[in-house]
Amino acid sequence: MNEVARTVIVRSTPLPRKLFRVFVELEGMYRNMVEQLVLYAVRTGVISFTRLKALKYRELRSQYPQLPSHYAYTTCQDASTRAKSFLRVKKEGLAKRGYPEVNRVSIWLDDHLWRMKSLTSIEIATHKGWVVIELELHKLFWKYMNSEWRVASEAKIKLNKWERRLVIYLVFKKIVEAYRPRGFISVDVNENHAAVLVDGKAYLFKTDFRDIILGYYYRRKRIQEKYDKFYGASCRVKKKVLEGLKERERKSNLKWKLANIVVRIAVDKQYTIVLERLGKNPAKEMVNHFRDDQLRYRIYQASFKGVQRAVEEKAREHGVPVVYADPRNTSRMCPIHSSLIVYENDSRVGRCSRGGELWHRDVVACYNLLLRARLGNGSNAPSLGGLKVDGSPVPLGSTATYEPTEISRSLWARWKSLDATNKNKSMRISI
Ligand SMILES: [Zn+2]
Repeated sequence: MNEVARTVIVRSTPLPRKLFRVFVELEGMYRNMVEQLVLYAVRTGVISFTRLKALKYRELRSQYPQLPSHYAYTTCQDASTRAKSFLRVKKEGLAKRGYPEVNRVSIWLDDHLWRMKSLTSIEIATHKGWVVIELELHKLFWKYMNSEWRVASEAKIKLNKWERRLVIYLVFKKIVEAYRPRGFISVDVNENHAAVLVDGKAYLFKTDFRDIILGYYYRRKRIQEKYDKFYGASCRVKKKVLEGLKERERKSNLKWKLANIVVRIAVDKQYTIVLERLGKNPAKEMVNHFRDDQLRYRIYQASFKGVQRAVEEKAREHGVPVVYADPRNTSRMCPIHSSLIVYENDSRVGRCSRGGELWHRDVVACYNLLLRARLGNGSNAPSLGGLKVDGSPVPLGSTATYEPTEISRSLWARWKSLDATNKNKSMRISI
C-alpha cells in the first residue's frame, strides 16, 4: 500500500478590497511568526516540528491571541522545514548569508484552518473569523474531484496582490495498492528512441528528443543573435519570442505520453518496470559527443532524466514497482554468450563475437537490463516479487535475430496503449 499525492493549484475569484486586506494582515502576522521561529530554530538547533511547537506555542499564542490557535502549529511546521533546508544548504557551503531569510511566504493551513464549503468554494479561518472564498475552477480540478482522489487536509495559500486573488495549493491523495509482479518490462532510453521490451518483443519508440532540442537550440541562438545585435541583450521582444518557442511544453507532453504507454503495459500485465540507473553526473557516455556543455546537459535532462522521471511518477501513481539496473555496457554485451557484440560503421545492428547472431543495439540494451534486474545484479529493488532468480539465460534460441518494431512519433503520440500496435501497420526494420 502506497499513498500518492498531487498538488493542484486553483485561484480564487478576485476579492473585494476589504476582504483581501484581511489576508494581507494574516500574511503579515504569519510571516512574522515564521521569521522568529526560523531564526530561533537555526540559532538553537531546535529544528524538529514537535520540539519547536512545544517550546514556542505559548509565546506565539500570547503574541497573536486574535489568530486561530492552529496557526501556531502550521508556522512551526513551515519554520521547521525552512530551518532544515537552510542548514542543509549551509552545510554544503551554498548559503548566501549566515542567517536564513524568509522571502516568499505561502500560508500553510491544516484541517482546523480551512475546509471545503461546497464544490466551488472553501472556508479559511482568519483573525476575523471564517471567510468564504469562491474558487475559479478548471478541468484538472474536476478531474481529481471526480475520481478516487480525495482532498487532503493540508493546503497552502499565496496572495496575488496584483489581481487581489488567493492562489490555493490543494493536495489530493490516493492509496494505490502494490501488486506482486509477474514479470518485467524493461525500458532503455537514448537520445532519439525509447526501446521497450515486453515478453520478448521489442518496440522502438522514436522520440527524436535530440533533434527537437537541437532544433530549438539553434533557433534560440539565431533569435538571440538577431535581437542582441539590434536591441541589446536585455530586450523584451526577444524574451517574448523565446517564450513562444514553448520547448518545455512539447517535450513534456511527449514524455508523459510515453510514460503512460509504458506504465499501462506494466499495469495490464502486472509487471515490474526496469530502468537503467542514471548517475548523478550528466556526462553520460552517449551524450559525450557534444562539446557544448549546456547542450549536452539539456539533451541529457530531456531525453534520459525526463523520460525516467515521467515513468517513475506514473508508476508510483499506479503502484507499479520500478527497479534499476546497472547500464554499463548494456549495448555491448551479448546477453546469451556474455561476449562482445561488434558493431561496424556506426551500424545499429551488431554481431555477437561468439555466437555470431545479430543484435539490434537498443534491443540488446533492453535484454541486458532485464537480465540484470532478474539476477538482482545492481538492482536496488526491495524484492523481485518472489520471482525465481535462477540465473539461466534469457529464453532465446541463439539463431534468431531480434528486430524491434519501430514506431514513429507521429503514430505513438496519439496512442493510449500498446494495443494500438496490432491495429496499426508499423514500420519494421529489416536486418
Ligand atoms: Zn551471443
